[in-house]
Amino acid sequence: MSDSKTDRRSFIKASAGAAAAVALAGNLNKSHAEDRSAVKTRKASCNCGQLRVKCVGPDPERISLCPCKLCQRQSGSAFAIQARFPREQVKIEGKSTSWRFPIEGAEPVNFTHCAEAGAEFHFCPVCGSTVYYTSDADDARIGIKIGAFADPTFPPPKITGHIKYRHPWTMDLEGLSLDVVQGKQH
Ligand SMILES: [Zn+2]
Ligand SMILES: [Zn+2]
Repeated sequence: MSDSKTDRRSFIKASAGAAAAVALAGNLNKSHAEDRSAVKTRKASCNCGQLRVKCVGPDPERISLCPCKLCQRQSGSAFAIQARFPREQVKIEGKSTSWRFPIEGAEPVNFTHCAEAGAEFHFCPVCGSTVYYTSDADDARIGIKIGAFADPTFPPPKITGHIKYRHPWTMDLEGLSLDVVQGKQH
């Protein structure tokens, strides 16, 4: 049997579970609201585990979904999501390499972005995952890429910006009716 036939048979229509997902999302939003002030220990890391961040405290208020061009290129995706934690709640372990944006001496970029005041992004020099950043406009907090937590219980984003750059389909993931491929590379 060809791979494509095997793939087809293993597809599950995501839309079949859409109603359940909507109900679940309602519950998740409720529990996020209730749990937000509780002190938690959350751990983020790069893919190889060398660069790690531990956050101890309530879940942060500022969690942003940003589709600006800086975030698209940096995340390799249609948007990035990050949470800002008070510095005193954050413990960083391991080595990082950092770079600043806007890049000093480079031609100014012709798009708006979420690092207007300047930001320094830290990534693992071994595996390349960006884990955290500091913003010149917000010295009291450290931003952490929420993907680095790889934790589906992490609260959802609350704010966004630079929406002229967003990919329209990202606002309606259920509308994509994605086929879920089980146990296959994609
Ligand atoms: Zn790494
Ligand atoms: Zn951005």
